[in-house]
Amino acid sequence: YDFTADDLIDEGVIGRGNFGTVNRMIHRESNHVLAVKRIRSTTVHSEERKRLLRELETVMSADKCETIVRFFGALFYEGDCWICMEIMDISLDKLYKNVYKTGHRVPEPMIGYIAVATIQALNYLRQALKIIHRDVKPSNILLDRHGMIKLCDFGIAGELVDSIAKTQEVGCKPYMAPERVSMMNTPYDVRSDVWSLGITLFEVAMGKFPYSNWNTAFDQVDQVVKGEAPMLCVNTPDNFSIELVQFVNSCLVKDRDQRPRYNDLMTKQFYQLYDLNGETLAMALFRQKDRNISDRLNDYCNMTSAGLTFF
Ligand code: ADP
Ligand code: MG
Repeated sequence: YDFTADDLIDEGVIGRGNFGTVNRMIHRESNHVLAVKRIRSTTVHSEERKRLLRELETVMSADKCETIVRFFGALFYEGDCWICMEIMDISLDKLYKNVYKTGHRVPEPMIGYIAVATIQALNYLRQALKIIHRDVKPSNILLDRHGMIKLCDFGIAGELVDSIAKTQEVGCKPYMAPERVSMMNTPYDVRSDVWSLGITLFEVAMGKFPYSNWNTAFDQVDQVVKGEAPMLCVNTPDNFSIELVQFVNSCLVKDRDQRPRYNDLMTKQFYQLYDLNGETLAMALFRQKDRNISDRLNDYCNMTSAGLTFF
């Protein structure tokens, strides 16, 4: 995968983040379609670049896990860093908002398959690559119409963003665990990502972020560190199963030491209910195991790709 920016045809923006845009691009020679994340990185020095490229090699070795987005490489162009990755149809934040816009809710099995895929990816990163993700949130979980569910934006992207944004305000990272908000300098623990996963699943299940608006970093400390943890309930019009409720709430235990790790989550009923035992959801859907999910996924992805054309 040796190519430069000139080998890519820009087809326009498909998403915007804090540090730049993500564009759909086509590799001229192969006609391969990519998602290219362009990060303004005029502040990244050449020493830093070398380190980042070394790091990228680690990230690219994650190609044995089917729930992690493929990376094709990074290049520097006019002071920007371009991260080239596999393109997916939609991110989970957009998907769930589309669903709620039409008055529906994300079906519980879909929440289950998303939870299982994300935990498998996080566990693989940790076990095989010794990487902690640090930025688990709905926009970093990507899906396609066939039922592939993949985690992105770990490793290089996170490192790069960190080096650009050392001064970033706490309030900009709403999925952060209480212990991260209050003790930012302590070593990162996987259980902080478990919290972020809990917030993510809560948000997708309820259709909204669990905390009210934050205007300052103080508001975040007030609510996340001093306030009660968000809690899903069984007795709501949503009719969540007890398995879902227990699973999400266990991720949202405020005391980090009481919070489960990935191995603990994998023993829970909710996880086992939607564990496809190595098979991807796409493969399971291909065998027509769940028409309902299959049809809905297609609808949700189509809604957004139509919207994206006019972005
Ligand atoms: P954030 O994750 O904070 O939203 P990013 O810059 O990482 O910011 O991504 C911006 C948006 O681009 C995401 O919300 C997502 O919708 C979209 N996106 C990112 N990567 C991909 C990809 N590989 N395929 C399709 N869409 C993507
Ligand atoms: Mg992202």
